[in-house]
Amino acid sequence: MTGNAGLLNEITRILCAGGIEDAPLEAKWILEDAADEAAARKIAERRAAHEPLQYLLGKWEFYGLPVYVGEGVLIPRADTETLVDAVLERKHRLPESPAAVDLCTGSGCIALALKRHLPDLMMTGIDKSKMALTFAERNAAENGLDVQWFCDDVTAPELTFDALDLIVCNPPYLTAGDMENLQTEVAFEPQEALYGGEDGLDFYRRITAVWRDSLRCGGMIAYEVGCTQAEAVSEILAENGFAQIEIIRDLNGNERVVLGCRKS
Ligand code: GLN
Repeated sequence: MTGNAGLLNEITRILCAGGIEDAPLEAKWILEDAADEAAARKIAERRAAHEPLQYLLGKWEFYGLPVYVGEGVLIPRADTETLVDAVLERKHRLPESPAAVDLCTGSGCIALALKRHLPDLMMTGIDKSKMALTFAERNAAENGLDVQWFCDDVTAPELTFDALDLIVCNPPYLTAGDMENLQTEVAFEPQEALYGGEDGLDFYRRITAVWRDSLRCGGMIAYEVGCTQAEAVSEILAENGFAQIEIIRDLNGNERVVLGCRKS
C-alpha cells in the first residue's frame, strides 16, 4: 500500500516503543507490504514484540533472489552468502553438469543461489523438515529454478548418492550456551534448525563421516560454521580424509566457511 506521512510516523513510533533499532526503515517496508492501514498497525505491533520482520513480511532477499519464509523455516542470513561466494569462486574445480547436494537446505536459499549462477548444476536440496521443504519448493517455483527436493535425515539418510562433485551445508551449529541466550527474534525460529549439540559440532562430525564417501575423489565439501568453530571443523575434515582445507571469512571478518576436497 502507499501510506501517508501520518501513518508512517505512527508505525515508526510503535516500532521505536518496542526498541526496534532501525524503526524508520522497517516502518517503510511494513507500509510497502501491508494490504491496508489496519494490517500495517498489526504487523508493527507484532514487530514491536520482536517477531522477526522476515516472517511478518513473508519474504526476504538472499543473494539477490526473493526467498519466501515463515515460521518453521530458518531465515536466510547475509553471512550465508559467503558460502555461496566461496563455491562460485571455485567453480573451475567442478566438471561439466556437476552433481551437488545442499544438506539441511531449509528455505533452499543456498541451493537456489548456486543453481541461479551455475545453471548446469544438478542440484538437490535435502531437509528433514517437511515444513521447510514447502518453502523450498515455493522458492524454486517463484524463481523459476530447477532443483530437486527430498525429505530425509541427513545424519542417517535413507537416500544414498555417489560420485557427487559438491556438498554444501549450513547445519544447525549453535551450542547449548548459545541456545540459552538467543536474541528474541531468533527464538521464533525452529530450534531444530539452530541447535548443533552441546558444543555445536554434532552435525559437522556426523555429516562429514556419513557423506564423505558420497563425494567423488577431488569432490568439494563446503560448510558454513559459527564464528569460533572453523578450526574444529577443519580438524573434522582432515580426520575424515579431506585435503586443501580452507577457512574463509565473512564481510564482518568472522571465520564463516570451511571447505575441503576429498583426497584422491
Ligand atoms: N547463523 C545462525 C544464527 O546466527 C545460526 C544458523 C545455524 O545454526 N546454521 O543464529
